[in-house]
Amino acid sequence: MTTVPAYDVAVVGGGPAGMTTALYTTRLGHRTAVFEKEGGRHARASHVHNLLGVSENVSGRELATHAIDQVEHYGGDFYPDAVDAVTRRDERDDEPRFRVEAAHATVDAERVVFATGFRDRRPDVPDIERFTGRGLHYCLHCDAYTLADGSVFVLGHTEHAAHVAMTMLNFTTDVDLLLDGRDPEWDAETEAQLDAHPIDRIDTAVASAFEDESLDPDEPPWLGGLSFEDGTERGYVGGFAMYGTSYNADLAADLGCELGADGAIDVDADRQTSVDGIYAVGDVTHGQNQTTIAIGDDAAAGLAIHKDLRPFPKPVAAIEDEAAAAEAVETQVPGSPPDLRAQMRRVREMRTHPGLREPSPGRD
Ligand SMILES: Cc1cc2nc3c(=O)[nH]c(=O)nc-3n(C[C@H](O)[C@H](O)[C@H](O)COP(=O)(O)OP(=O)(O)OC[C@H]3O[C@@H](n4cnc5c(N)ncnc54)[C@H](O)[C@@H]3O)c2cc1C
Repeated sequence: MTTVPAYDVAVVGGGPAGMTTALYTTRLGHRTAVFEKEGGRHARASHVHNLLGVSENVSGRELATHAIDQVEHYGGDFYPDAVDAVTRRDERDDEPRFRVEAAHATVDAERVVFATGFRDRRPDVPDIERFTGRGLHYCLHCDAYTLADGSVFVLGHTEHAAHVAMTMLNFTTDVDLLLDGRDPEWDAETEAQLDAHPIDRIDTAVASAFEDESLDPDEPPWLGGLSFEDGTERGYVGGFAMYGTSYNADLAADLGCELGADGAIDVDADRQTSVDGIYAVGDVTHGQNQTTIAIGDDAAAGLAIHKDLRPFPKPVAAIEDEAAAAEAVETQVPGSPPDLRAQMRRVREMRTHPGLREPSPGRD
């Protein structure tokens, strides 16, 4: 009979959200496993912006690789594997409570964290996908700065697309809203608002994307512009595709977690879902959409899970009850399993980071 490994915490999703939660729970002494299948939104970011202390030359994939090293360094386990199902175990009194089944591994866990993110719906424009992060963008707050003062498009026909087009006027005077042959879905109020803003609205379908030939051919290509079905072309430094999102929330829904109207997983202030012991963090919950926000949010989840799992401090009465039952004394050891305690001792013996390298300007 094969033994199923038991964890305190299993995290589904190895993006910034999942890895931050895993780093916290591992370093707080809980046996933690992370499952990651293929790279999500973070893996599509060719440059990570707005992350203090991280150069924008770092890609989302590089950030994730470093995060895996960090979590493993402190004793967490990383499974490069797609989770197919999370179920409540049959034996009600048995712990851990949940079973996580992936393509190549099965583990049991007392707490499960969904950090599965969402997928941006892609534009239906031939040949545009290769410019992702290099002229085709999905995140205004990440990339508006990069496109500032240039000729910019917003692809989309929804209320949100109209809003993003108007917002982009904070960064440039040259914004086109491309309907790509579809009917607009915004209301009359937005229509009037759009008319009042200096935005070119283009109805014609987009036929293809072309690259900027003036750039260094040794560099990865950057978008130069778009061709339209009426035979015209427009040069752009870049733009945004705004076709909405699909939340990766099926596994959580199968467990009975409540979802919001848009499909995001509903969570409370501790990032716990409507199912006891199941948490959700990052983009799969509502209104995140930034690496930095995911990281902060997920640190909070890691702390909440720790507070939920930790044995100390206890009420005095509980300690007195346990002391009265001699066999219960055995359970009063600190919360980390022995393998994690050994790993913590090894890390403590290593040279630690020296801190800021130079004094602040004007200070010795
Ligand atoms: C092109 C682009 C550029 C961006 N640039 C920036 C930027 O510069 N700065 C910034 O702050 N934000 C940026 N963002 C937003 C940022 O990437 C996201 O907000 C962030 O990645 C959210 O982290 P997450 O961990 O919640 O989700 P994700 O990064 O999407 O990670 C979710 C992970 O879950 C995994 N997963 C899903 N289902 C399963 C399963 N069943 N089993 C195992 N694993 C599973 C996926 O493989 C994925 O790796 C950008 C987004 C895009 C698309």
